[in-house]
Amino acid sequence: MDLFEFQARDLFDEYGVPVLRGSVATTAEQARSAAERLGLPVVVKAQVKTGGRGKAGGVKLARTLDEVTEHAEAILGMDINGHTVHQVMVAEGCDIAEEYYFSLLLDRTNRSYLAMCSVEGGVDIETLAKESPEKLVRNQIDPLVGLDRDTADEIVAEAGFRPEDRNRVARVLVQLGRVYRREDCTLVEVNPLVKDAFGDIIALDGKVTLDDNAAFRHPEWELLVDDSSTDPLEVRAKSKDLNYVKLDGNVGVIGNGAGLVMSTLDVVAKAGEDLPGHPHPANFLDIGGGASAQVMANGLEIILADEQVKSVFVNVFGGITACNEVANGIVHAMRMLGDKATKPLVVRLDGNAVEVGRAILEEFDHPLVTVVDTMDAAARKAAELAAQEA
Ligand code: GDP
Ligand code: MN
Repeated sequence: MDLFEFQARDLFDEYGVPVLRGSVATTAEQARSAAERLGLPVVVKAQVKTGGRGKAGGVKLARTLDEVTEHAEAILGMDINGHTVHQVMVAEGCDIAEEYYFSLLLDRTNRSYLAMCSVEGGVDIETLAKESPEKLVRNQIDPLVGLDRDTADEIVAEAGFRPEDRNRVARVLVQLGRVYRREDCTLVEVNPLVKDAFGDIIALDGKVTLDDNAAFRHPEWELLVDDSSTDPLEVRAKSKDLNYVKLDGNVGVIGNGAGLVMSTLDVVAKAGEDLPGHPHPANFLDIGGGASAQVMANGLEIILADEQVKSVFVNVFGGITACNEVANGIVHAMRMLGDKATKPLVVRLDGNAVEVGRAILEEFDHPLVTVVDTMDAAARKAAELAAQEA
C-alpha cells in the first residue's frame, strides 16, 4: 500500500525524522484556517499517490491567506496523472538552501535493500539516473543489519555531501532506515531532502510503500487505507476477498492461479492485436486453487459490473478445484445474475474432471456461454466477440 505524503510525514515524525508541520484540508476554508494556525508562508500541496505534483501545478507557495484560498481552490479537484485531488496538505514554508535525494527500497534480485542518494535532488530521479548516473550513489544494505550509522556515513561521503553537513544528513538517513525496517516498508523515498537556511536537514516530501505481506502484524494500517482513490470495483472485489486488479481493456478475464491468469492476459492481448479496436484485457482476476462455485459467481459478478467489459474469458485448469465445480459456478452465477448477464462468456476448461465440467455447460446450453477447447482458440474467440461489440 502506498501512503499519501501527509501519512508519510506523520510516520517520519514518529521516528524523529525532521519534517515540517502540516495539516490536511479538504476545502479551501479548512486550508485557510490551517495556514492561520501554522503561520505564513505555507505551501499548499496536492495529496495524490503519484509523483510530479510540483510540475503539474499541485505544489504552490502562498505568502498571504488569500493566496492560500486561491491555491487550495485551484488544486482541490485538479487531475494529476489521472488522480483526482480530494485533499491538500498545508505545510509550513521552508527556506530551501539545497535539495538532495534519498531512497531506500527492496532489492529482490540481490536479496537486500538498496539505498540511493544524491546531492542533486528535487529533480526527476529517473532523469538523473539516466543523464548523470555518477551523481546517484547506490549502496546495498544488509537486511539483517539495516542502515546503520557506519553505512550512512559511507553513503554521505560517497554522495559528496559537504563535510560540515555529513553528520546531520547521516543521522536522518539512519532514522529513515528505522522507519523502513520497523514499519515493514518496500520503499521510503525523500525527494527532496533539503538543507534549509539554518543548515537544518528536513524531509520535505515523503513517499512510502508498505509491504502488504506484513499487514497481519500491523492492525494500525487499517486506518491508512483510502478507498476514495481505489477503483470502486477493486474495493468491491476486495470486500469479497477476490484477487482483482482493474485494467483498461474490454475482455474480462477469470482464471485460477496467478501464473495462468498472467499468461491469459498475454494471450488475450496478443489475440486482440490485429482486430479492430484492439481488444485487450479488462482486468486480472485469480479465483485461486480450491475456489468454490460461489467464488466463481462473485468473480463473474464483479467483471460483469465493469461497463467497459464486452466479453469474458473464463480460463480454468482444474486441479484442486475440479472442472465440474467451476462449471457449476458458472451456471450458478448466470442464474443468479439473470437478465443482468448480458455479455458473452468464453469458457476453456481443462484438467481434473474436464469431461464432467464440459457436460454440465453443454446441458446448461446458455446462449451467452461458448465452450472452446484450447486456450489460444478461446482467447481469440473472446477477443473477436469484444471487437464485434465495440
Ligand atoms: P512532487 O513534485 O510531487 O515531488 O512534490 P514535492 O513535495 O517534492 O515538491 C516539489 C518542489 O516544490 C520541491 O522540490 C521544492 O522545490 C518545492 N517546495 C516544496 N515545499 C516547499 C517549501 O516549503 N518551500 C519552498 N520554497 N519550496 C518548496
Ligand atoms: Mn518530491
